Amino acid sequence: MFKFLKKKLKSWVKKAGKPEKIVKASGKTKPKKEKELKEKKALKKGKILKPVMKFNVGTKTYEPDFEKTVEALKEDVKEPHVRKSIFSILKKKLTNEKFDGMFQELELILIQNNVAYSAIKSIELSLKEQLIGKDLSSVDIKSVLKKSIEDILINPPDFFREIAKTLTTKKPYVICFVGINGSGKTTSIAKVAHMLKKKYSVSLAAADTFRAASIEQLQKHAEKLGVHLTKKDYGDDPASVGYEAITYAKKHHIDVVLIDTAGRMQNKDSLMREIEKISRVNKPDMKLFVGESITGNDATEQAKAFNDSIDLTGIILSKADVDEKGGTAISVSHITKKPIFFLGTGQEYKDLEIFNKEKVLKSLGL
Ligand code: GDP
Repeated sequence: MFKFLKKKLKSWVKKAGKPEKIVKASGKTKPKKEKELKEKKALKKGKILKPVMKFNVGTKTYEPDFEKTVEALKEDVKEPHVRKSIFSILKKKLTNEKFDGMFQELELILIQNNVAYSAIKSIELSLKEQLIGKDLSSVDIKSVLKKSIEDILINPPDFFREIAKTLTTKKPYVICFVGINGSGKTTSIAKVAHMLKKKYSVSLAAADTFRAASIEQLQKHAEKLGVHLTKKDYGDDPASVGYEAITYAKKHHIDVVLIDTAGRMQNKDSLMREIEKISRVNKPDMKLFVGESITGNDATEQAKAFNDSIDLTGIILSKADVDEKGGTAISVSHITKKPIFFLGTGQEYKDLEIFNKEKVLKSLGL
């Protein structure tokens, strides 16, 4: 994750942070001594020297080659700042126009690395606010870029503390997992169950009664993890599976119930109605969207659709281990304004990493 983006951002920061090329004054004059010696030699040989015509404009002295001097003067009038000292060049303020040119390259890098357009616009705005009118010499481009990405990413609340807080007043704590088929939902549920088991009693609910083999898949995880699974038949009402799982948990003093749901995005409207119903009936304490890190804009759009429908608590980005780009984290955070709780980093139960924005920024080289 972030492999490509890191490399690209690094080269952009390097380029953007470079002071502009300094244009040397034309009409180079040879060092005085060398010139004097040459003149003396020529005089000794009896040569007639051309008179050296010098003239002043402002504080500068110009001398022939005359044609070159005229050209230089013309340029000076056109761009009076060009021929100034290194310090005055570095002190030049960054204009809107120059910024746009500079940003075009970064925009392309971000698009290529799965950062959604609206997130790019937000980064652009933030960079503009911090850079326009500033002397490039006095700005640390890297920290400015870091700040604009940092503002988008959200650190998640402490997962265990959230659960512990609620468990003081209500039991079981209910977490509903949503996301499209193949996104890693079932695997993520098993990973979360594995993690929670260290502190709490856990049970699962097979509320995906639509996808063939989904119940058996969750059953396998439940057996492996040694936790209870509430299941019904394919085609049964998913909301009622959740309800039964919660009733079972209450009866058996189970701390946390994890509900799996269906994810047929090809039938988006009915899926969203189903998810809304599960949410309404089971009143989950946490609603987590599971999306594939590698799918970029697809995952972002899915997250938005689920968030619009059931107001997500947060996000799990699966398959971060095979995602070299890394921009999806920035995109989903920006679009949903919800924290990423975990990154899925492999297929084993242990491969679940708490999301940490500082770590992400570091892995981006920022
Ligand atoms: P679901 O249809 O959303 O329930 O998706 P599954 O949990 O069945 O996952 C689909 C595939 O993705 C399976 O082969 C998983 O082993 C794999 N998978 C899930 N999470 C991860 C992850 O974090 N990293 C990798 N590399 N593979 C994952």
